Amino acid sequence: MTENKKRFIDPHIHVTSRTTDDYQAMREAGIVAIIEPAFWLGQPRTQVGAFQDYFSSLVGWERFRASQFGIRHYCAMGLNSKEANNEPLAEQVMELLPLYVGKENVVAIGEIGYDDQTAAEDKYFRLQLELAKTVQLPVMIHTPHRDKKKGTSRSMDVCEEHGIDPSLVVIDHNNEETVQEVLDRGFWAAFTIYPHTKMGSERMVEIVRSYGPERIIVDSSADWGVSDPLSVPKTAALMEKQGIPDDHIQLVTYQNALTAYGQSGKIKEADWLEADPVDQRELFEGNSVLRGQSPKVGYKSSDIVEN
Ligand SMILES: [Zn+2]
Repeated sequence: MTENKKRFIDPHIHVTSRTTDDYQAMREAGIVAIIEPAFWLGQPRTQVGAFQDYFSSLVGWERFRASQFGIRHYCAMGLNSKEANNEPLAEQVMELLPLYVGKENVVAIGEIGYDDQTAAEDKYFRLQLELAKTVQLPVMIHTPHRDKKKGTSRSMDVCEEHGIDPSLVVIDHNNEETVQEVLDRGFWAAFTIYPHTKMGSERMVEIVRSYGPERIIVDSSADWGVSDPLSVPKTAALMEKQGIPDDHIQLVTYQNALTAYGQSGKIKEADWLEADPVDQRELFEGNSVLRGQSPKVGYKSSDIVEN
């Protein structure tokens, strides 16, 4: 059953905000691996301990929780642009980051970049690009929703100023106005599929038709807001229906993300193809995902189905 089922990677999703039903639906739709970039949580944190616990969950509990549903969880570590504007706190977060970037499932520095394009955002963006160079990790860039075209160009200018190879940088939240420049300059161009708005699946199909599949990546960015954790498989299904070749779909919904973040040396296909069977009897620091249900045990992660 699994052999001819398509496999997907969602390389930008905030699963901390999602439920176990989402995890189960994602796995059933063929998502085998995800990358969760550190981001803001909807309201600003007031102390560095809140960042520390969040970062710890991205390399600990959330990674375990995903594994219990047959999904490999990776993450990107960084100080997001919004909270970079609280400089006293940002300083403390910068001291914390080196403790986390070397963890096993950290495949990038991110998501970093600009929100309002303030001086503080610029400062911490640059400092984190230097951190990425030091630890030799790819970079995931959040481009601003306001003044996007300028913010996207500027993000790439700054990466170049810091001598970072574009092949190590994924520029996210692209649209029709930004994609050409991003591709021309040699960066990866990621697209977040927002249901009902900005960048929907229909537009994504046309982008792949126009620009081809090279260095283009599809993700959901699903989080605590209106978003869809199945955006990647749904977009792939629409592409198939609308005549995009299979090998192009495979590149934009799986292989390109693997190639880009694989440059970290910490994410590879064998991680899920050769994974141990799911065992929901496992505990993480004494806790399980179960609430009295019978644990699912001994089946391959690819076989997860409802009761
Ligand atoms: Zn995000």
